[in-house]
Amino acid sequence: MIRMNDFTSDPPSLREAQLEAVQRVLDSGWYVLGPEVEAFERQFAAACGARHAVGVANGMDAIEIALRALSIGPGDEVVTTSMTAFATVLAIVRAGAIPRLADINPVTGLMSVDSAKRCVGPRTRAVVLVHLYGQVAQMDDWKELCESAGIHLIEDCAQSHLARWNNQVAGTIGDCGAYSFYPTKNLGAAGDGGALITQSQDIDARAKVLRNYGQSQRYHHPVLGLNSRLDEIQAALLAERLRWLEEFTARRRVIAAAYRTGITNPQVQLLAQPHDINSHVYHLFVVRCTRRDALAAHLKTSGVESFSHYPVPIHHQASCSGILIDPAGLRHSEEHAATCLSIPCQHNLTDAQVATVVDALNSFT
Ligand SMILES: *Cc1c(COP(=O)(O)O)cnc(C)c1O
Repeated sequence: MIRMNDFTSDPPSLREAQLEAVQRVLDSGWYVLGPEVEAFERQFAAACGARHAVGVANGMDAIEIALRALSIGPGDEVVTTSMTAFATVLAIVRAGAIPRLADINPVTGLMSVDSAKRCVGPRTRAVVLVHLYGQVAQMDDWKELCESAGIHLIEDCAQSHLARWNNQVAGTIGDCGAYSFYPTKNLGAAGDGGALITQSQDIDARAKVLRNYGQSQRYHHPVLGLNSRLDEIQAALLAERLRWLEEFTARRRVIAAAYRTGITNPQVQLLAQPHDINSHVYHLFVVRCTRRDALAAHLKTSGVESFSHYPVPIHHQASCSGILIDPAGLRHSEEHAATCLSIPCQHNLTDAQVATVVDALNSFT
């Protein structure tokens, strides 16, 4: 089976370096928030061109902490998309704020600027912009919308590690960016991890207090924070994997290019071309097909795994009945949820595996 994720075929030298990193941490006897976390925070901030990075426990917490660091909470509305990982919306709710869901642009799956404009009202304090599938797009429009409305722009970068808009890395364009290092992400730990990046010293300082029980100095808690610390082993592993990230991303782009030229079946639609090569890191390669479930079954019999991101839009989740949405409805999100299919595009795929995936898609009738 050609899998969506395969953590066992990484380069042997990366595996060696990771084993050494784990050994180093075990020998140090220091396990949570220490020198490895600080080193990784510096390296990740530098890779992003951000002044600050704050290691946290996961991507969902990174979004919650970003909102709380900006003093967004009860009574405040936050606009985001219905086509995202559930964590995006759950983080807004956990911060005490009220999510309002916008529709998507059907050719990219990304939140629609026009729909978001309809969602902005007097109580809106921020947009959480999800760089879905690894795509960074229309950042000039998003900045203009947020600046003219006087609201914050938080980037959900859980799928867009080091994607660039012109020369700016995702997460450095708005007020701050929330990253996830869940194992399946482009930069993944061997467990949970996350980070918040920002150019603001104030947000950095607040986030560092929030992640550790709201503790400013030992046993002093000026705010009610959370327990969202990054541990030393994950930070040490992430630092090793960060060295490989650009190379792995380049491989994803080669695979995506092969899919774009190779997939010729008229029943299988591709999403729009990215703005430029650097603006898409292909966390996921997503196609659309009106007979999506039949296509997934056909791929399975051809030995190709596929998933759907996401088959149920947030506003159709049982726990989200009554959630606020664009008054014009979320038609494109619903259509996308019914037709989208993600095919393997992780960096460890061989050329032969890529060819098998293309053949499997083209032989679907
Ligand atoms: C994975 C993901 C998250 C949540 O990250 P976790 O580390 O799993 O908490 C948030 N938003 C998006 C878009 C994601 O893909």
